[in-house]
Amino acid sequence: VLEMRQVSKTYGSGTAAVQALDAVDLAVRAGELVAVMGPSGSGKSTLLTIAGSLEEPSEGEVWIEGTALSELSRNKRARLRRRQIGYVFQDFNLLAGLTAVENITMPLELDGMKAKQARREGIRALEEVGLADRAGSFPDELSGGMRQRVAIARALVGDRRLLLADEPTGALDSDSGEGVMRLIRGACRNGAAAVLVTHDAQLAAWADRVVFVRDGRVIDAGPEPEGPESLLSSGRESGR
Ligand code: ATP
Ligand code: MG
Repeated sequence: VLEMRQVSKTYGSGTAAVQALDAVDLAVRAGELVAVMGPSGSGKSTLLTIAGSLEEPSEGEVWIEGTALSELSRNKRARLRRRQIGYVFQDFNLLAGLTAVENITMPLELDGMKAKQARREGIRALEEVGLADRAGSFPDELSGGMRQRVAIARALVGDRRLLLADEPTGALDSDSGEGVMRLIRGACRNGAAAVLVTHDAQLAAWADRVVFVRDGRVIDAGPEPEGPESLLSSGRESGR
């Protein structure tokens, strides 16, 4: 679903330049959940924003479902981003003035979907995260865990292929965090690919593979996917 090859990103220029990513290779297949770990400032969020085509790489290429992003016009890239990629952030990013279902349907309607169909899709997405009965609730009427489930429903609505999550459980207690991880895992079981940035090794154990980022480089692409147990042990080995 996602392939990044030799991707570098430099912010700013001259003496103020910061190289946030340095020749990163990363491939994520359909159904795969990849966790990204690494110290603060190592480039994890930058990796996600470039994978999701929110920013362009300074060098290298990104493919989504086999399409090279650099070959698309700005409009086509934006369209691919809206249709194929869902984001989840630590602070949920729900609009306070809209209900749960409206938060999900608004981007669909902006993208040209009829209100009725958008509503149908929105309710279905809420059903998948177990919140259909809260469709009419506003974000401040929901717990943190519920808000993040709405954000995940918004990210996955319409069968998106790639889920990018930047510390999605960072603001949640561990029970809600587990619930969020279960949903992300479930999305992968349904064929989506997911990249999850986390500081929490226990959450990373939900992944098929752990990637470590340091100073903008991927320093360990982890083992071939086998399961959480093998991941935990390989995570320890990579600490040498
Ligand atoms: P954290 O764990 O704290 O979220 P991170 O691994 O996500 O860190 P990034 O946010 O990707 O790290 O930042 C990598 C480097 O790029 C840092 O040095 C950061 O200061 C720099 N950086 C990130 N975004 C920008 C930007 N928009 N403009 C300039 N520099 C940036
Ligand atoms: Mg970050």
